[in-house]
Amino acid sequence: MDLVLLGAPGAGKGTQGALLAEKLGVPKIATGDMLRDAVRQGTELGRKAKQVMDAGQLVSDDIVLGLVRERLSSDAARGAIFDGYPRNVAQARSLEGLLGETGRRIDAVVYIDVDDDAIVRRMSGRRTDPDTGVVYHVEHNPPPAEVADRVVQREDDREETVRHRLEVYRQNTAPLVDHYRQAGVPVHTVDGGQPIDAVQGEILGLLGK
Ligand code: AMP
Repeated sequence: MDLVLLGAPGAGKGTQGALLAEKLGVPKIATGDMLRDAVRQGTELGRKAKQVMDAGQLVSDDIVLGLVRERLSSDAARGAIFDGYPRNVAQARSLEGLLGETGRRIDAVVYIDVDDDAIVRRMSGRRTDPDTGVVYHVEHNPPPAEVADRVVQREDDREETVRHRLEVYRQNTAPLVDHYRQAGVPVHTVDGGQPIDAVQGEILGLLGK
């Protein structure tokens, strides 16, 4: 199963992707998580990516392609859930090429739909545990006491950066919905404004799982 999760930043791709990965037994490939790891480890790639990420822009297609290529030949050799990748039509074409090398293709796309104001409210309350990468929300999914004093707000979750990321999303990533429809890939839309469990249930239902 190769599945692409589409949706604005903060729509819940990371949360739903993690639940789906567990349920379907395939790894999640989240380029944003991989880039943040590289930043934390202080690698050369991480140093290059940090400024771009903090400003809410997209890092270069080559960088993310390299990250994804490595995963497709290792832990994700038999399927993956793509979260935050592809981010534009060029990346979608590269991914099609990469998967095609081993006879794979995108089986389905899930588009998680959430309106902009709800996204801005969500992002400002979002907190991440830097040790585990688990994402919480101060109101809707508060971090448990044992991790509460180490959770952090992402640099790019500040309101003006979120608004910029939404713009980048609209220009670059939103066109992928049509791209996949035209390519004949089933695109399932879910209302991402519902509680986490309800969204998950709807996605599994749409995928027939
Ligand atoms: P995310 O966690 O998916 O919201 O990604 C955080 C940031 O990482 C984005 O705002 C971009 O700067 C960068 N990033 C993540 N995935 C990609 C991608 N596929 N292409 C370009 N930049 C990306």
